[in-house]
Amino acid sequence: MPIIEGSLTTADLPLGPWAGEQVTVWASKTGTTWHANPDCPKLVSKGKTAAHSQLAAGTFAQRVVPAQLHCNPPGRLAAYAAAVHELIRYDHATRSAVQKSDADALDLDVLIAGSPQRHLESGRQPYAELSARWSTCIKERSLLFNELREQLTDRLPVMLAAAWVASGRTPRQHQERYAAFVDIARDICDRQEIAANGSLSGLINHRYLSIWLNRIAEGGHPRRVTRDLTESEIKHTRSLTRDDASEFHSRLETAWNEIGDAWQHRLEGMALAHSGDVVAVFDNHVPGLTWELRRLFDSDHIPCAMLRTPETTWKCAVVPAVFRLLLNHHDRGAVGVVVAEERAYHFDLDRCALLLRNLAAATGSLGLAESVRPQPSLEIPRSAPWRLRAFDSGHARPGGITPDQLAAALMATYQGERLG
Ligand SMILES: [Zn+2]
Repeated sequence: MPIIEGSLTTADLPLGPWAGEQVTVWASKTGTTWHANPDCPKLVSKGKTAAHSQLAAGTFAQRVVPAQLHCNPPGRLAAYAAAVHELIRYDHATRSAVQKSDADALDLDVLIAGSPQRHLESGRQPYAELSARWSTCIKERSLLFNELREQLTDRLPVMLAAAWVASGRTPRQHQERYAAFVDIARDICDRQEIAANGSLSGLINHRYLSIWLNRIAEGGHPRRVTRDLTESEIKHTRSLTRDDASEFHSRLETAWNEIGDAWQHRLEGMALAHSGDVVAVFDNHVPGLTWELRRLFDSDHIPCAMLRTPETTWKCAVVPAVFRLLLNHHDRGAVGVVVAEERAYHFDLDRCALLLRNLAAATGSLGLAESVRPQPSLEIPRSAPWRLRAFDSGHARPGGITPDQLAAALMATYQGERLG
């Protein structure tokens, strides 16, 4: 773990059950790595041994152990050491998220980890010696968590728009949306006479645009991402050119900032054009969702009703309207459908589950209809054929759901009824 100023260290935590203990360690005859667990599989022979008396009181940093200690004494000493390190890791993750937040980036790991309060309630910390520290850490994390959650609500539409544009990047012919971003950059490079230099416009196509988009899809603020990329690009160019060429570098900086601004306006324009929330039913593997975003969709932040079948998982959730862009995939056709726009606020998690259930019933898969989560007690019938494989507006493909079936399921759901 990189050291972050103000982070909790072992010097801040008490010795706990280590106080006053005698710790025996072993090593092979010529070995320099010591083991305090006599049954450690890495301890090949007990060629030498030593005993270390611990202080009667002190901090965990004051443990008297060999410099190269491989494992702790088994039992409560090892358990306490693990608890100490868990607390340190937790605090470290909070501080690193604060740092990211100061750099205008959302720490999705902290968001995905979920409510700090729940961590406290999970009762994983039975040590009274650590409980005061845990409370402080949880309090700090809670403040940050709530702040990040608000930011996520604001940023998610732009994050999704960025993921969608990034998914238009193809090895040969980029799709329109991606190509439009490349064109914007090329025009600006031309205007600043940078393309003449030959490299930047190509680099943008091959490298920078996708980095820029992915960082935003994962919660970075566009302005900040542009600034960071500009800095590193200029640093890189300076290292390549022998003369300082300050005039060129200042043109480069201007071009980069212009490009970043123009890209940002595009993304924000997309998010604006699709403002508000909608209810969508979609395949869990929506192409274009980055791994991080997918994890977010599996977390509490976007509560989803779920229907798992042996082949696939369908979800129903209230999502930012811009998510609609990701539901049409050029290779796979529709991978989801927006089922309600104006009345999205009618849909809580239960109603989303009812809709999935009714869709399954409307397509004749009533057996599956009973497997919709959240109702965790229901078993998923492995053999049931699930026919909600594809959506096609107008004409359903074989095995797909038809507009009539969709309408029937939706109507029943609005009225709070169960089909079938
Ligand atoms: Zn060991």
